[in-house]
Amino acid sequence: MKKCPICEIPLVPCEYENQRVMKCEKCHGYLVPQFQLNSIQRIDDIPKEELLNEAKEDFKGSIEDDIRCPKCRITMDKMTMNLASISLDIDSCHTCSLIWFDGGELALAQLGYEDTGKFQNEENMRKGMAELENDSERLAEFEDNLDKLKEDKIIDRVVEGLVEDMVYGTAYGSYASRM
Ligand SMILES: [Zn+2]
Ligand SMILES: [Zn+2]
Repeated sequence: MKKCPICEIPLVPCEYENQRVMKCEKCHGYLVPQFQLNSIQRIDDIPKEELLNEAKEDFKGSIEDDIRCPKCRITMDKMTMNLASISLDIDSCHTCSLIWFDGGELALAQLGYEDTGKFQNEENMRKGMAELENDSERLAEFEDNLDKLKEDKIIDRVVEGLVEDMVYGTAYGSYASRM
């Protein structure tokens, strides 16, 4: 049984942004598997207001004491998570790939992430694509733009990771400016 590294009471399984995590019902800290953090950050089902409330009510400031991993009991590593508007000190266990967020920190991390341009772009892209899918004329136009970019060999010149940003940024941008 995993216990809260702060309160030493059993953690309870729960969901956060549709992902399975464990929570301490006393200090409201969360234990999150590393691989689920990306999914949590991509989802924004929890309304911003609720996140703000959670952060305000539960955040007691960073705890500087060393804490032990609820799974393997080894001292967790201090890590700084830098997001657009905030940086957070979180604890992680590399052996178990677990991250501990003190009360309110997960909400803050989520708010910070949703503030970053990366999230905004993804969000715009998703919205843009959803709109396009419902409008065959726009979709055709979008695909034309994609083809033009490919003809210009722009795609060949950039590394794969940048391709998406460029293609969607440029193609969707030019489409958006004509609306
Ligand atoms: Zn606790
Ligand atoms: Zn561990």
